[in-house]
Amino acid sequence: MKLKKRIALITGGGRGIGRAIALAFAGEGAQVAVAARTLDQVEQVSREIVSQFQTDALAVVCDVSDVGSVGRMFASVRERFGRGPDIMVNNAGIAESAPIARTDDDFWNRHLAINLSGSFYCTRAALPEMIERGWGRIINMASIAGKTGAPYISAYSASKHGLIGLTRSSAVEVAAKGITVNAICPGYVDTDMTTRGVENITKKTGRSADEAMASILKMSPQNRLITSEEVASLALLLASEDGRGINGQAISVDGGTVLS
Ligand code: NDP
Repeated sequence: MKLKKRIALITGGGRGIGRAIALAFAGEGAQVAVAARTLDQVEQVSREIVSQFQTDALAVVCDVSDVGSVGRMFASVRERFGRGPDIMVNNAGIAESAPIARTDDDFWNRHLAINLSGSFYCTRAALPEMIERGWGRIINMASIAGKTGAPYISAYSASKHGLIGLTRSSAVEVAAKGITVNAICPGYVDTDMTTRGVENITKKTGRSADEAMASILKMSPQNRLITSEEVASLALLLASEDGRGINGQAISVDGGTVLS
């Protein structure tokens, strides 16, 4: 039980990678709060946790791009568990694609607001109690798009590069307080986000779904999608005592796509 007595808050916990992290953490004894904008998805994950692990779980509706909503989410966690999170997983994110010349203000601002500002709001809200207790973990779900560039994803890529910058600076700022801050950089993962990416390629290029998927798979030397559970295993290491020496890192889980 690597996370016994820990409280974890996972944004974007209603499906995909966030759901896998919530289940992995609950399986290691953490009390888990899952947050997203869609109530039935977070409730479903929280029910799964309660029935699988006979432990407490909280489902919270939150839009991380809205600082007031983030404040209410933290109030709900404190009310339910008696204190704020020991482990903050900033996983909520969106990914849309467009050529730069057709990236309008709303598109750009949406990516920065959810993927970058949302993680900043949650980090700022979580840190004071972590500093007071002398222990904490912040895990930011970046992407290999936070380390390298690719066509048609400038807004997404800029938001994830920013998230790695936030990770590095906050990591050194709080390193002496028993807190680590790290980023995980997955390649393509087997979630709805990738399914939507395939649909998008199909729509925009006229290629079949199989061809679109093949073009994604060939970006990885392993020629496969990463599973959500593989990403959750790394999150678990970073959240646990075993990971206490890993700080300020942006760790890829991508089968060797980006070698930096
Ligand atoms: P999904 O689309 O499957 O899940 C995204 C989660 O984030 C959902 O629970 C969604 O719920 C939530 N979310 C989105 N916007 C907000 C918001 N404004 N406030 C709160 N919650 C929000 O994606 P994945 O599980 O694949 O992605 C999770 C993270 O991993 C993202 O940050 C993504 O960028 C990153 N990632 C994913 C990769 C992939 O290939 N799938 C590769 C690299 C990184 P709701 O819509 O109900 O709010």
